[in-house]
Amino acid sequence: MRIAFFGGTFDPVHLGHLAVARAAAKKFGLKLIYFAPADIPPHKQKRALAGFAHRYAMLSLATAGQPGFVPSLIDAYTGMPNYSFESLVRLKKTLSRSDRLYFLIGVDAFKDISTWYKPVELLNECDFIVASRPGYSLADAARALPEALQPPASELEKLSQHRSGFIRLPRTTLHLLDRVNVPISSTKVRTLAQGSIGRLRRFVPKAVADYIKKERLYIENS
Ligand code: ATP
Ligand code: MG
Repeated sequence: MRIAFFGGTFDPVHLGHLAVARAAAKKFGLKLIYFAPADIPPHKQKRALAGFAHRYAMLSLATAGQPGFVPSLIDAYTGMPNYSFESLVRLKKTLSRSDRLYFLIGVDAFKDISTWYKPVELLNECDFIVASRPGYSLADAARALPEALQPPASELEKLSQHRSGFIRLPRTTLHLLDRVNVPISSTKVRTLAQGSIGRLRRFVPKAVADYIKKERLYIENS
């Protein structure tokens, strides 16, 4: 079975995340997508995140009734930053031999992959699906690879002319998921949370909008 790990802060989950997951499931035949909110994202946040329990609750609401979309506790509290490499190693232990794991990520996040914990080891752990995002080019994905995995310049040149397809590396493949063009971010949702629930509902599932209002999330700190 094809399974994807989709990590993030999900503060909060929004319709862009769901669109990416849906497009990836369709294109790559994924039967299960684990949405894994990080308790402590390794890269310092400039602001305080909503509590893990709130972010997880909203993911549960957003994935309810979506076949194959599952909120995951793999990056719940450990007292330590959640490094994706370690999460993947742990997740792989729970899979069976016939399962095939993919790491689902937006190109904006992938651009920083070289600065992550053990990037080469992480990339060699499974195939990646890199989703397009407004304002970023998929060719940036190849350029963002750690030096040890950089394809030759001639390859990069070819890639910059293609917006989809894949980049095959010795021990991993980057599959490019283009045409996901949803201009929504959690940052935008947090700002909108100050206003009417009507606008919020255009960017997050209804149950998530209701939860944000009930719990009075993102009122002060957006
Ligand atoms: P923030 O604005 O707080 O950074 P975000 O919208 O980027 O929030 P994250 O939780 O940071 O959401 O992202 C989790 C993952 O989802 C990342 O890999 C990110 O690239 C991807 N992602 C988020 N929104 C989109 C979108 N609209 N299109 C494509 N990928 C997205
Ligand atoms: Mg982000």
